[in-house]
Amino acid sequence: MSKKKQIAIFWFRRDLRLDDNAGLYHALRSNFEVLPLFIYDTDILEQLEDKDDARLTMIYRYLKKIKEELESKKIGSSLCIKIGKPIEIYKELTKEYEIKEVYTNHDYEPYAKIRDENIKEFLGGKDIAFKTFKDQVIFEKDEVLKDDGEPYVVYTPYSKKWKSKLKPFYLKPYPTGKYFDNFYKTTHFDFPTYEQIGFEANRSPHIPSDEIPEDIIKNYEETRDFPAKEGTSRLSPHLRFGTISIRKLAKVAKETNEKYFNELIWREFYMSILYHYPKVVDTAFREKYDRIPWRNNEEEFEKWCEGKTGYPLVDAGMRQLNETGFMHNRVRMVVASFLTKHLLIDWRWGEAYFARKLLDYELSSNNGGWQWAAGSGVDAAPYFRIFNPESQLKKFDKNQKYIRTWIEEIDTKNYPKPIVEHKVARERALKTYKGALNG
Ligand code: FAD
Repeated sequence: MSKKKQIAIFWFRRDLRLDDNAGLYHALRSNFEVLPLFIYDTDILEQLEDKDDARLTMIYRYLKKIKEELESKKIGSSLCIKIGKPIEIYKELTKEYEIKEVYTNHDYEPYAKIRDENIKEFLGGKDIAFKTFKDQVIFEKDEVLKDDGEPYVVYTPYSKKWKSKLKPFYLKPYPTGKYFDNFYKTTHFDFPTYEQIGFEANRSPHIPSDEIPEDIIKNYEETRDFPAKEGTSRLSPHLRFGTISIRKLAKVAKETNEKYFNELIWREFYMSILYHYPKVVDTAFREKYDRIPWRNNEEEFEKWCEGKTGYPLVDAGMRQLNETGFMHNRVRMVVASFLTKHLLIDWRWGEAYFARKLLDYELSSNNGGWQWAAGSGVDAAPYFRIFNPESQLKKFDKNQKYIRTWIEEIDTKNYPKPIVEHKVARERALKTYKGALNG
C-alpha cells in the first residue's frame, strides 16, 4: 500500500491568478490538498518563432508572482512548474503523487480541446477525475444560442440574447481566498530559468497595467477611436492570460459604460464562433471568399510587415506592433483592410503575422478581426467598403501625433513613396473580389 498523501491538482493555463478563479475555487473546496501546477507545453513553445517572445516574459512574471503568493507564510505551498508535453508530465506526476482529481478551466481552442480529451482519457484510465470549469468567459459553448438552437453568426442579436441571459450570479466572484488553507503544504519548488524553457527574457516587454482603468472606461466613447490617446483599457493581454478576472471586469463595465461592455461581448462572440465553427481557423467563414485569387506578393508583404508601405497610418500601426506587441484597434482594422484589399494578400498571412507579434494574441479575436477585414467572416464589412488609409488618418489622427510617434523619418526623403496608389488599388480590389464572388 502506498503511503503517499492523496492530493488534487489544479492546472493553471490561461487563468494565471489565485483570486476569483473558478477551477481553483472548486479544487480548493475538494477533499484533497491542492497542488498547483503549470506546464510549459513544448507543443506550444515549438510553434513560437522568436526566442525573446514577450508573451513568455509576461507568463514568467505572473507565474513568479503566483509562486511568491503561494510560498507566503500564510499559505505555505508552492507552484510546481514542469516543461514538456502535458501527457508526459501527467505520466510522471501520477508516479510521483497519489493524485485523486485534476481540476482546470475550460479552453475552447481546437488544439486545447484535443489535448484535454487526451489527458482526460489518460487520467480516467488511472481512476483520476478530470474536472473542468468555465472561467475565461461569462457565457460559453451552448449557453447563448438562437431560439432554434443554432449558434448566432451576427453580433447584435447575439449580444441581445447574451444580455438577456445575464443574471447577477454570473458576475459573482469565486472567493478562493477563504480556502487557501487547503493548498498542498510543501517547501518551495524550483523555478525554471528561461534557458531551461529554451527562450530568452524579453528586455523591454510592454506589459500594460492589470489595474482596471475606470476613468478610461467611463469616457470610452470619447477616446476609444483615437490611437494617439490612452483611450482604451489595454487589458487585452490580461484577458488573454487570465491575469484579471472577466467577471470582475464585466461587472465594472456593466455598471460604468455600455459601449465598453459591448466590446467584452464581441470577445465572447468570436469565441463562440470559433467553438461552433472551428473550420474558420483555416478557411473563410463565407466559403466563396476562398475563391479570391490573392496576389500574395512577398515583397509587398515584407513592406507591410516592416511598416514601409508609404501610407503613414498603416506604417505607424505596424511599427507600433513590431516595437510593443500592441496595435490600437482602429489601426488594426486599417492595416488589415490595406493588406487584404489594397495589396490583395491572403488574410491568413496577416493573421499569422499578428499571431507572432501581438501580446494579446488570441485565436478567436484575431481570426474574427481578420476575416471581418477581408469580408469573409461572420458579420463582416461588405467587400466593397474599403478603408481609405488617408481619410482614416485625417479623421482619427488629425494632429498626426500617432504617426509621428512611430515614424521618425516621416518628413524626410527616406520615408517611402506609397507602394500602391489608393484609387488604383481600390478598383483592382473591387474587380478581383467581384469576379471571384460572382464567378
Ligand atoms: P478595449 O478597447 O479597451 O476593449 C476592451 C476589451 O474588449 C479588449 O481587451 C478585448 O478583450 C475586447 N475587445 C475589444 N474590441 C474587440 C474586438 N474587435 N474583437 C474582440 N474583442 C474585442 N483582440 C485580442 O484580444 N486578440 C487578438 O489577437 C486580436 N486580433 C485582432 C486582429 C484584427 C485584425 C482586429 C481588427 C482586431 C483584433 N483584436 C484582437 C480586437 C481588438 O483590436 C483588441 O482586443 C483591442 O485593440 C485590445 O485593446 P484594449 O484592451 O485596449 O481594448
